[in-house]
Amino acid sequence: MERFKCAAALITARRPEKPVLGLRPHAAGRAARWFHANFDGDIAYAYKANSSVFLIGALYGAGIRHFDVASLPEIEDAATIPDAKLHFMHPVKARTAIRRAYELGVRSFSLDSLDELQKIVEETSGKNGPARDLELFVRVSVPAINSLIPLEHKFGIAGEAATQLLIATRQVASKLGITFHVGSQTTTPDAYTAALKAVHDLIVHAGVVVDVLDVGGGFPSRYSNSEPRPMTDFMAAIEEGIETLPVREDIRLMCEPGRSLVSEAESLIARVDTRRGNHLYINDGAYGTLFDAAHLGFVFPTRLVSKQVSNDAPTNSFELWGPTCDSIDHMPGPFVLPDCIDEGDYIEIGNIGAYGRALAGHFNGYGTYDEVILLDEPQLTMYETDDADTATANVEQMR
Ligand SMILES: *Cc1c(COP(=O)(O)O)cnc(C)c1O
Repeated sequence: MERFKCAAALITARRPEKPVLGLRPHAAGRAARWFHANFDGDIAYAYKANSSVFLIGALYGAGIRHFDVASLPEIEDAATIPDAKLHFMHPVKARTAIRRAYELGVRSFSLDSLDELQKIVEETSGKNGPARDLELFVRVSVPAINSLIPLEHKFGIAGEAATQLLIATRQVASKLGITFHVGSQTTTPDAYTAALKAVHDLIVHAGVVVDVLDVGGGFPSRYSNSEPRPMTDFMAAIEEGIETLPVREDIRLMCEPGRSLVSEAESLIARVDTRRGNHLYINDGAYGTLFDAAHLGFVFPTRLVSKQVSNDAPTNSFELWGPTCDSIDHMPGPFVLPDCIDEGDYIEIGNIGAYGRALAGHFNGYGTYDEVILLDEPQLTMYETDDADTATANVEQMR
């Protein structure tokens, strides 16, 4: 893939007809190294966030070997990654998917009901009876606090039913795990504190031995309208919460970050096809990589990359419209850009690496992109300090 110093260099070299995905694999690698240096457990990348081989390759290069997968196609894809350990963490799975996953070597499954437990046991049983190598995670529901995309309504079990399910799962699992998801783009660490309190109470009630604790995903990224607490605060809250749990010292930990590993690793470079007042009509939108900007209020960091403007040039707040005929193809923003922007200009919309391309469809014939590698830094980062990188480098040197 062609490499460019930055999006502006790309526009100078070509004036691309299609929208372009600018990949920054180095940003994914940095995020993964940060997690390895700051989280004392297995880091399972949530595959659904972005399955570009370039980003997966960067995560792999930074040591990621565990993957949280949610469907059979994802499993068949990820099973080709050397030494990959896959965790099938969708609490409701088709029987055929369970069986095929087990055949492909998946041993780790999540569940939030007795029905699902029974399905897993039946579909993984063989001639010699039930499988003896299952690692089963009970998905508990926890309160969503300061999360942009709460997930606790669809999945998760709580209270007495959760206690019963833990006890029943313990009887068939070789390793028993507990998992939860605090909701995506959780901006304050108290969500993890509350979740671990719920896990604490549950373990006390059930009186079971827990082998693995999976604190899920939900770790935040930075956007123009979302300024999370520093990532170290999240790790401190998790460590503190785990210390109070009635579990063995050597309990294995796991997390499943999606967004926080890849959001900074991709930008969209889009062209302005017309300007109407403060409204820019661009060549990608809600049916493309900007679903979250249209439907969930995300304001991605944005900059003009087709002409040089001085730092004190007047700016304006813009709304964006996508290329389809549909009036919901609208990203309200506000996106702040130089006021001189006009038809034919290109803008870079940053931090779309998580759930950007993953959600893009082909409505109206759109949804295909050129791809390039960008060598510069993302517009907003959670991993600002070079210290983290330097620290990791030092640790690596010491080994
Ligand atoms: C989507 C998902 C994740 C990743 O969530 P992020 O908010 O992107 O970190 C992790 N675990 C499960 C079970 C998920 O469904």
